[in-house]
Amino acid sequence: MIKLDFHPAGRHFLQIPGPSPVPDRILRAMSYPTIDHRGPEFGALGLSVLDGIKKIFKTQHPVIIYPASGTGAWEAALSNTLSPGDEVLMFETGHFATLWKKMAVNLGLKPEFLGLPGIEGWRNGVQAQMIEERLRADKERKIKAVCVVHNETSTGVTSDIAAVRKAIDAAGHPALFLVDTISGLACVDYRHDEWGVDVTVSGSQKGLMLPPGISFNALSPRAIEASKTAKLPRAFWGWDEILEANKTGYWPYTPNTNLLYALQEAVEMILNEGLDNVFARHDKLAEATRRAVRAWGLEIQCRDPKVYSPVLTGVMLPEGINADAVRKIIYERFDMSLGMGLGKMKGRMFRIGHLGDCNDLTLLATLAGVEMGLRLAGVEIVTSGMPAAMEYLSQQASVVQLAAAA
Ligand SMILES: *Cc1c(COP(=O)(O)O)cnc(C)c1O
Repeated sequence: MIKLDFHPAGRHFLQIPGPSPVPDRILRAMSYPTIDHRGPEFGALGLSVLDGIKKIFKTQHPVIIYPASGTGAWEAALSNTLSPGDEVLMFETGHFATLWKKMAVNLGLKPEFLGLPGIEGWRNGVQAQMIEERLRADKERKIKAVCVVHNETSTGVTSDIAAVRKAIDAAGHPALFLVDTISGLACVDYRHDEWGVDVTVSGSQKGLMLPPGISFNALSPRAIEASKTAKLPRAFWGWDEILEANKTGYWPYTPNTNLLYALQEAVEMILNEGLDNVFARHDKLAEATRRAVRAWGLEIQCRDPKVYSPVLTGVMLPEGINADAVRKIIYERFDMSLGMGLGKMKGRMFRIGHLGDCNDLTLLATLAGVEMGLRLAGVEIVTSGMPAAMEYLSQQASVVQLAAAA
């Protein structure tokens, strides 16, 4: 076994935007004994998690749970609904949108990548207007699906999914609507049914606070209908056999039992806190982070305040400073991991995750670590960000107290 003696005391600060820290309650739930996946108790567990997860997606329709990372659920969404050579319209919001597009090419689809020029696409959300115009121009209805990323984890931008739905409707276009909310789910409001999404893709290791290893496809009746005629090859990912087995709480193969215990626990924790409270907590922590970043005099990667991500904040560094060198100092001196710049943003920024099992003091310690690291790396900062973050968080705490007393 490798010895992780780099983390000698206290907790490692895992402030990357997924995997996020796993709460002790969830780790304990995972330590229950592994049971027979064809036995009677398993069916009860299966039905419980299949039902519970619907509340998180805000759907009445089936949610498929795969023993796979989010990337697998991306493939499942495409391969169950589309046929070789189908045109799909995707939007360039960042690295994850780019990877999903690359997968579409590899599967034999014909993706068209809409986006703002240069790096602008990576600093703004999905432009619903551009999607509407493109769909209106598609008189022959060749585009079979529109695919967008809800929370672009590589940049810290949360796009308006309801606006994309409206754009598709305004164009009167029959394309399916596929959304990746792998890092948005259980951090920021998401409404699978109300927003008319056909397949929502998500994963376990971000807002759900689970370890990596399970992922989801939330379906619509239209998506299920489409899967009956879609011709892309699929076997492991095929919805039909899974839906059949799920009726009684089972899977056609061995699911990851202990992660399902964890999922059950996570759903209970999230629903006990209340989804709206979970979203408000993420909004608050994100706002405190942005106040600190502004006090430092650094730039937030997301340019449009309407689409600031409640999940993570991308911080740009001044020209000539290698963001990865700053991250390395923070990792080695303060035992904290920050997200690196991906793709076009490599070395130019880092990402502070404030998702999942995170509260005011977790965030303040995180910001203190970032600030100390910036100073050690010789990044010129205007002033400490700590007073700004602390003032905002204490203000918010007093608002909550007043509300509780009223
Ligand atoms: C994490 C993430 C993925 C990839 O998920 P894996 O579990 O790493 O396969 C895809 N899209 C987004 C938006 C993500 O945050």
